[in-house]
Amino acid sequence: MTDCLFCKIAAREIPAEIVLETDRALAFRDINPQAPTHVLVIPKEHHADAAALAQADDGLADDVIKAAHAVAVQEGVAEGGYRIVFNTGPGAGQTVFHVHAHMLGGRGLSWPPG
Ligand code: 5GP
Ligand code: ZN
Repeated sequence: MTDCLFCKIAAREIPAEIVLETDRALAFRDINPQAPTHVLVIPKEHHADAAALAQADDGLADDVIKAAHAVAVQEGVAEGGYRIVFNTGPGAGQTVFHVHAHMLGGRGLSWPPG
């Protein structure tokens, strides 16, 4: 997608603080962090949202979730607990329509979310 912010980050056309890269996924720090650790994990391939990712072929969703967990370990929040969130659709607060997992940790996370 030529006009997608996260495709541009994946293509290194827009800078981001990348913390992990695999063959098919990329993780970078959120520009407006909501927790001490707040990393976005995307498939490099464009899919609009979690529904599209779930229908993508050959385990791409699996790769994204595994990358999110690997980032939690790398960032030292895995033991204390962390949250993986896919805001899906405008009613859930999705603003960037290239699917991304928010990986949040480093503080207590209340439930239910807002
Ligand atoms: P959503 O609201 O779609 O679930 O999440 C989009 C996230 O992308 C937000 O948390 C927002 O702070 C983050 N974001 C928006 N633009 C940029 C950017 O240019 N760089 C980075 N690193 N994060 C961004
Ligand atoms: Zn994209």
